Amino acid sequence: MSFLQRERMALEQFFPGLDKALADILLDDLESPGSPGIELLRQAGGVGLVIPVEFKGKGASALDAVRVQRALGARSPSLAVASTMHHFSVSSLVLLAANGGKEWLLLEAVAANDMLVASGFAEGRPDGRILAPTMDATVVPEGVRVSGLKRPCSLARSMDLLTASLRLPAPDGSGDRLAVALIPAKDPGVTVSPFWSSFALAGAESDQVRIDNVLVPEALVVLTEVTDEGRLDSIQTAGFVWFELLMSASYLGAASALVEQLVDVDQVSETERLQLISRLEGAAAGIENIARQVPDSVTDSRLLVDTLLVRYAVQDAIAAVVPKAVELLGGLRFMTANDIGYLSAAVHGLGFHPPSRGRMAGPLTRYFAGSPLEIV
Ligand SMILES: Cc1cc2nc3c(=O)[nH]c(=O)nc-3n(C[C@H](O)[C@H](O)[C@H](O)COP(=O)(O)OP(=O)(O)OC[C@H]3O[C@@H](n4cnc5c(N)ncnc54)[C@H](O)[C@@H]3O)c2cc1C
Repeated sequence: MSFLQRERMALEQFFPGLDKALADILLDDLESPGSPGIELLRQAGGVGLVIPVEFKGKGASALDAVRVQRALGARSPSLAVASTMHHFSVSSLVLLAANGGKEWLLLEAVAANDMLVASGFAEGRPDGRILAPTMDATVVPEGVRVSGLKRPCSLARSMDLLTASLRLPAPDGSGDRLAVALIPAKDPGVTVSPFWSSFALAGAESDQVRIDNVLVPEALVVLTEVTDEGRLDSIQTAGFVWFELLMSASYLGAASALVEQLVDVDQVSETERLQLISRLEGAAAGIENIARQVPDSVTDSRLLVDTLLVRYAVQDAIAAVVPKAVELLGGLRFMTANDIGYLSAAVHGLGFHPPSRGRMAGPLTRYFAGSPLEIV
């Protein structure tokens, strides 16, 4: 079994021909604004990856999905990151449907019509808290009226639906709760404008979405149990597990694309090559260990803690492997094409996804001293 073969077999199993189609496009094109990658994934039925077969999806397990995301990340980090945002939104709907909700109707519509679902939690504010959105949300007889900004929001230019976080009063008067509203991208109150100015990951369409006085019917608003202290309910716990798993696998794929170029380079010693391979495969094994515990333990906060620790370990593995791989690939490879420099910049993105290691240092340390888990 060669390096990345298992991951590419998973990608081929779910989306025949997609890996070849992506490999035939220049990395520069896949990673630039207007990248063809998102449309190729949509045409391959990519939106249905984690939607159960009974709802017309592909029914991938979490283990399949992390392998697919790693394979995608090795071809196009932007596509892997953008599609992670879709699968993250969808995985929460799958759980709500499994708990007896009507979300299966939506999942069928998403799968049958190849609809992309963006996820707007960030609001582009320094020190913003992912679980404390500041959108204006007013409860009215017909539902909720929503206004505000979401940025960066990946898939902003290709999305059919947006899941946007907001805060709503709990029905029992016990303070505010985190809620998620589902908004059609075609609503006249939804506009998209440029936000992402970096060359790195520019193919993910992580731009700004403005929501202006949009009425969201009550049926399309999910009120969670999540309060200001950052204690998660089961759906949010599961959502974070899926998010961290798929995001870690995506960036691991980008780092793997560098190491793949070294695997059969005889001028580099076998010891050095194996060091890089084993560091990445060890990180992949950590991700797969968590994925194998989904769905059985996906709502368990202990599994989320393990997932976060694995995600930070993946960051460390990438940080150790990438500079060494770039050095071993040599100056001529670096000078004569963009891909080595590009991939080594793009992998930094993993550190910016919530919850960052710096923010979680306190809560995780307190968790291991016996406190309940908080996400800040
Ligand atoms: C490629 C990409 C795509 C994205 N797409 C989306 C998307 O589709 N939807 C979405 O909602 N978001 C998206 N995001 C945004 C992401 O969710 C974050 O909101 C954003 O990257 C946070 O930026 P930040 O690191 O400056 O923020 P912060 O979290 O404020 O962190 C800034 C720095 O301060 C440190 N820090 C902050 N608080 C503490 C603390 N209490 N203790 C110690 N240290 C602390 C952090 O560790 C970090 O070093 C995307 C991000 C990237 C990179």
